[in-house]
Amino acid sequence: MRDLLHLAARDDFDRTRATVARLGGCTRPIALTGHTTTVDVTTGEIVHAYASTEEPTGRLLLPCGNRRASRCPACSRIYAADTYHLFRAGLVGGKTVPDSVRAHPRVFATLTAPSFGPVHNRETSATGRALRCRCQTWHKAADPALGAPLDPAGYDYTGAVLFNAHAGQLWARFTTQLRRELAAHGDLPQRDLPGELRLSFAKAAEYQARGAVHFHAVIRLDGPEGPTTPPPPWASVATLTDAIRAAAARVALPADSTATGTLQLRFGAQTDVREITPDDGHHSDRAVAGYIAKYATKGAEGTGTLDHPLYCTACHGRGTHETPDGRLNDCRNCDGTGQAQPPASLPVRQHTRQLIRTCWDLAQIPEFAHLNLRRFAHTLGYRGHFATKSRRYSTTLTALRNDRRTWQTEQARIRVGRPAPDPVATETLASWRYDGTGYRPGEEPLAEAIRQERATALQLRHEAKKPARGTTACAW
Ligand SMILES: [Zn+2]
Ligand SMILES: [Zn+2]
Ligand SMILES: [Zn+2]
Repeated sequence: MRDLLHLAARDDFDRTRATVARLGGCTRPIALTGHTTTVDVTTGEIVHAYASTEEPTGRLLLPCGNRRASRCPACSRIYAADTYHLFRAGLVGGKTVPDSVRAHPRVFATLTAPSFGPVHNRETSATGRALRCRCQTWHKAADPALGAPLDPAGYDYTGAVLFNAHAGQLWARFTTQLRRELAAHGDLPQRDLPGELRLSFAKAAEYQARGAVHFHAVIRLDGPEGPTTPPPPWASVATLTDAIRAAAARVALPADSTATGTLQLRFGAQTDVREITPDDGHHSDRAVAGYIAKYATKGAEGTGTLDHPLYCTACHGRGTHETPDGRLNDCRNCDGTGQAQPPASLPVRQHTRQLIRTCWDLAQIPEFAHLNLRRFAHTLGYRGHFATKSRRYSTTLTALRNDRRTWQTEQARIRVGRPAPDPVATETLASWRYDGTGYRPGEEPLAEAIRQERATALQLRHEAKKPARGTTACAW
């Protein structure tokens, strides 16, 4: 508070406040120092110049852009909104996609991991009634026991971690196999498929309570030119559904090592495939885009694990440093463990801790060294992205961000009354350097005030939409 008062006493307080406001409440902004100069190429005249020294703190602050709600709630909301628009455009059209895609076969498919041993669960009957777990209790929805093994000693932790570590690769094989299955349905040699049909998809990875990664994907069939052309009549929703089920059941990936033997990694037996409908139902295009955007902002935190890497950064998790004459010395930072923190002290449940330990142990097996399991112990071995899409599905996150940046730059130009630059006759020279993360003393309370303001505004908007208690819908 003293820092804030100190800041408030300065002449440029309003500008500091405006700078923090533009970050939208970001938790850990990125600071840059440097300058940008726009020059008229013909006359050599400086059209516009900006340097971070013009800022009250001498630094330009940018939002961190983190996708995880646990890291930065403000930036993760923007990421979720962008992801939503990206998924939605591929379903209903918009951005670069024509709205005729609504007539193409589109499904929402869920591919899960196989069983690694029975876990505590809370299944519901067809009527939505909670059923009893195999341990004879009715678990509550928030019970931390959910997803934990009934018999921890017999649970296949090696299989669970190796599945996560290969899940991205298994998905890639699945898409190749899916093209093969579709070609077989159309009675075509595989090389002729692109001349008739294109496969587009967007997927999000999510963790189940047991810590296994699973994929939710929107899969769409287009004609040979992509979303602008219809697929051939034989390529129906039923064909796509059959092909997905067959491909998911068929793909396998061997994971070999002398220590663990050969393991065939596969997807689980239950592949859920639903047609996406244009109406307002549970599987309407809008609802599906919403689910996927929500999954994409969650990391493994949902399963009670951690949102930051667990290896010692001084030795990159190796536990040793090599001396110039080739000897190995224990890393002093981690006492040779390679861990930033001993697993026993991590604030996670026992099941998650065991998955993290398994990542650590498997990393020592030479055949699994390429899996980088120490680097990815906090994601329980999963090394892929949380939201991905094929090239022709819709626009990209980068394109959406560029659009927003162009719009913001244009608004700023209008605000200060600067003339529009002529892109042909000007050249922009820029030099920027990273200068740390986070706020300076005094700025954080300002950011917190902005977060509060936004949260209240969201709450009010939400309240306004909700019908008051006890009222019934008006018949008129
Ligand atoms: Zn942020
Ligand atoms: Zn149970
Ligand atoms: Zn170390």
